[in-house]
Amino acid sequence: MSRRILIAGNWKMNKTSAEGAALVKEIAAGLPAGNLPEILVCPPYLTIPAVVEAAKGSALEVGAENVHWAASGAYTGEVSTAMLLDAGVTHVIVGHSERRQYFGETDETVNQRAKAAVEAGLVAVICVGETLAEREAGETAAVIDRQTRKALEGISDLAKVVIAYEPVWAIGTGKTATPDMAQEVHAQIRAILADLYGADAAETVRILYGGSMKPANAPELLAKKDIDGGLIGGASLKAPDFLALVAAGANA
Ligand code: PEP
Repeated sequence: MSRRILIAGNWKMNKTSAEGAALVKEIAAGLPAGNLPEILVCPPYLTIPAVVEAAKGSALEVGAENVHWAASGAYTGEVSTAMLLDAGVTHVIVGHSERRQYFGETDETVNQRAKAAVEAGLVAVICVGETLAEREAGETAAVIDRQTRKALEGISDLAKVVIAYEPVWAIGTGKTATPDMAQEVHAQIRAILADLYGADAAETVRILYGGSMKPANAPELLAKKDIDGGLIGGASLKAPDFLALVAAGANA
C-alpha cells in the first residue's frame, strides 16, 4: 500500500498575519513542478484567515493547532470545529506535547478533541510520544500504546486520522530519533491500528514523525517503511527549509 507523504508545518506561536501570509506565498512560489506530497501549514488561530487567503490557488492546505470538543458555549479561550471549518481549515493538530506539558492536556481531552474533529470532517493529526524520562525508564511502548488507544476511543473510521509520533525529547532540541528508533515506534503504532481497526485500514493511515526533522535528516527518516511524512516545527518557519522538506517528501 502506498500512502501519500504528508509534510506538515506546526508554526506554534510564531508569525503575525502579514508574516504568515508572506511565508505561505514564498513556499507556494517555490514549489517544484511535478509530483508533490500533501502539504499542510498550521498557524496560530488568529492568523488563519490571512494564511488561508494567501494559500488560495496553491497546493497548500491550512490546519489549526488545537480545537475544542463542544459545539459552542462557556469555554473561554477555546475554538470550535465549526469556527475552524468556517475559516477554511481542513486539518487540526490535537494532543501536541506542548499542550500536554504546559496546558494540562490529558489522554481524555485529546480523545474528546480528536473525536470532535473527525466527526466534523476535519483531519485530526493526533500527536503521541514519550518523554526522555519515560524512554530511559523503558516505558516508551507502554506510553505509545496508552496514548494511541485512548486518543482513538469512539472513532470508528480512520479516513480522517493521521498519527504523529513525536518523542518529546526530540522536539525543538535538535535531537532526532534515529530512523531505526522512529521506525520501531511507527511499526508499533501501525500494529495498534491493525489491532483496533484491522490490517487493511491500518495500512491506509499516515504516521508522521516529528522532532527536529530538517532537510538533512528527512530523507533517511522518510525512507523508512512506516514513516509517512513529518510534523515539523522549527524548520517549517523558513521557506527554504520547508521547501527542502517538501522536496524530500516528493522524493521519498
Ligand atoms: C513539533 O513541535 O511538532 C516539532 C516537531 O517541533 P521541531 O520540529 O521544532 O522539533
